[in-house]
Amino acid sequence: MNAAELKTALLAEAHALGFDVCRIAAADKPPHAAEFHDWLGEEKHGDMAWLERNADRRTDPSLVLPGARSIIVLGMNYWNRDPAPDSEFKIQNSKFSAGRVARYAWGDDYHEIIEPKLWQLDAWLQEHGGAQRQYVDTGPILERDFAALAGLGWQGKSTMLIHPKLGTWLFLASILTTLELPADEPMRDHCGKCTRCITACPTGAITAPHELDARLCISYLTIENKGPIPEALRPLIGDRIYGCDDCLDACPWNRFAQQSRETRFAARDFVTMPLLDFLTLDDGAFRTLFRGSPIKRIKRARFLRNVCVALGNTGTADALPALKTAAADPDPLIAEHAQWAIQQITLRNGEATSPAPTTGAA
Ligand code: SF4
Ligand code: SF4
Repeated sequence: MNAAELKTALLAEAHALGFDVCRIAAADKPPHAAEFHDWLGEEKHGDMAWLERNADRRTDPSLVLPGARSIIVLGMNYWNRDPAPDSEFKIQNSKFSAGRVARYAWGDDYHEIIEPKLWQLDAWLQEHGGAQRQYVDTGPILERDFAALAGLGWQGKSTMLIHPKLGTWLFLASILTTLELPADEPMRDHCGKCTRCITACPTGAITAPHELDARLCISYLTIENKGPIPEALRPLIGDRIYGCDDCLDACPWNRFAQQSRETRFAARDFVTMPLLDFLTLDDGAFRTLFRGSPIKRIKRARFLRNVCVALGNTGTADALPALKTAAADPDPLIAEHAQWAIQQITLRNGEATSPAPTTGAA
């Protein structure tokens, strides 16, 4: 098989495994290596220290896989329609509102779904003489940069990769290989004069076209950030309890979204669960509810921290008893955010403006 035939066979193999797109980039330095180092220098990556630790490897594929010649970039569409608004579950629980979870986390953990497919592709490539390293999301490789270089889409002003037919609803994965495969051409940028993602961002995290300050991004604040959420940003988080899709929902290219072929990305029941029910979760119940979900990765304390913020922003007096219990939680992260939520609800109810009880000592 020559290189072109091998590539054709690879694309068929990837599609059969469930990948919706597969393209090839040469394993050179990524086009935005310098910008990536500048971004780190400005500390816009927040607490994501691992990005600093392997910054050189991220910008030089040969340090990850000596002899790497090609990067196979893969995309899997995860878009699923909203859970039915009149579902039995929601009707039963209509008294309390649910929080918002980013669409990519509605179903099962994409790492667990995609990694076995990458192993299968690796085995297939080994049969054809290649040595590989493969990653989904967490590897030392600038995935979006190589995806754009391979023409899988273009990097929009939101910094997300946009595929002209599937929009931004793609999980990206990549395989470095020692095999020489014909590289694809990059795709032209189709954002034009649009700035909808920048306008839609609740926190101003897209500070300029193609520039994201992760420290302001709700996805970072509710997922990667391990500590308290800065108080000034809490009101801007609204009812989001895991990630944020606002810049994606605003993107006109997402009107072409198509149903995912992978049924395991469909919304699980927790997507429509009332916020208050989450406050009753102990460690064991949290692990059971989120088994096989990406949400399990942030563990109970961070998740309940987020739930308290959402309740502080949207809750009513009905939430106060559960929040008072949470305010006594042994985990200080939960306790402090529950106290903040109680304060917010109390302020909204006007109780804070009531005269303080007199002690008669004056
Ligand atoms: S995910 Fe949300 S907070 Fe982050 S850049 Fe997009 S709109 Fe802004
Ligand atoms: S919303 Fe507009 S500017 Fe932003 S990524 Fe989409 S097309 Fe580009």
